[in-house]
Amino acid sequence: MRSQFGETAEALFLTQGFVYETAEDAEARFAGEADGFVYSRYGNPTVQMFQDRMALLEGAEAARATASGMAAVTAAMIACVKAGDHVVASKALFGGCRYIVEDLLPRFGVESTLVDGTDLSAWEAAVRPNTTALFTETPANPTLSLVDLPAVAEIAHSVGARLVVDNVFATALHQAPLKLGADVVVYSATKHVDGQGRCLGGVIVSDEEWVTEKLDGLLRQTGPALSPFNAWIMLKSLETFPLRVRQQTASAAAVADALAGHPAVRRVIYPGRDDHPQAEIARRQMTGGGTLIAIEVEGGRDAAFAASNALRVVKISNNLGDAKSLITHPASTTHQRLTDEQRAELNIGPGLLRLSIGLEDTDDLIADLTRAFDSVGAKAAASVG
Ligand SMILES: *Cc1c(COP(=O)(O)O)cnc(C)c1O
Repeated sequence: MRSQFGETAEALFLTQGFVYETAEDAEARFAGEADGFVYSRYGNPTVQMFQDRMALLEGAEAARATASGMAAVTAAMIACVKAGDHVVASKALFGGCRYIVEDLLPRFGVESTLVDGTDLSAWEAAVRPNTTALFTETPANPTLSLVDLPAVAEIAHSVGARLVVDNVFATALHQAPLKLGADVVVYSATKHVDGQGRCLGGVIVSDEEWVTEKLDGLLRQTGPALSPFNAWIMLKSLETFPLRVRQQTASAAAVADALAGHPAVRRVIYPGRDDHPQAEIARRQMTGGGTLIAIEVEGGRDAAFAASNALRVVKISNNLGDAKSLITHPASTTHQRLTDEQRAELNIGPGLLRLSIGLEDTDDLIADLTRAFDSVGAKAAASVG
């Protein structure tokens, strides 16, 4: 979408409103009888360009942008339910997503059931005639467990429910949930879409009918609109999105292999490796292992902290999908709110680290991580000896 100036780079329409030639024109636009924008909470040319490109990237009929990933998840879920309905979600979820399902929706008369997403019989047992939405994340944060999307889609559709998939970890490059049977896909564009640690954003993609009938009214009237400025950054980021994610994935695969045999590492969990417990699902529904790795270190929390603190290239941060490699200790940060029991159920042990691989040189990353884990291994050996 170019303005009359024919600019090369997409224009930033940093405007709240739009002016009309005549009062009649204003009336017609409000009535939806004339094309054109009326207010940036409803739509904005820069935001529209970003939405159109996300729809193309996803192979979807329609996309809507929101101010954050959580705004996208909240709107997508609310659009699926009314009081008296029921939703089912996998337990292994990003903290905010779990809050929506477990705490927020029940306050408005929507019951929810959390299941082990890897267990198809649990999904089947949980759905009811009044179930209107199933929600899942695959790979899941932070243990990278996988959910069989075509099978869960079939269970959703058997009761007339919609399957909503949070596709942040796999990214649009490596997994196409709509083609695997999902009805709605949500993204935190904060992650791989921006990919350079600058702004928050979210996207909801689905079919035109659901978006216009169920979602648009909600978005217009509740106002989680993406800022045109942030949409412009996201739009420019999309130009390098496949290159970045492909390179980050190649590095992640190499790092996962390099760390797998390290004596200080008990286990590397990476969807691109044959030893992932659900490698077969990864091969069927993903085209690459993604940019995230889960690492279980020997020696629990102390060793996990020591390894994190010894890193120089990799930074300690809870973001992911960034051009900078970032490491986080889920038990003490992102999943601190859960009880010990809940964490154990999700396999989030004290020695678990989540590593998001960025765009630094692959050999530098392997050297940095190997050196950090060597130092932990040496300390452990010294204390034993
Ligand atoms: C970050 C994230 C979100 C929330 O996105 P924000 O942009 O931080 O609001 C939701 N789901 C997953 C899997 C995420 O990683």
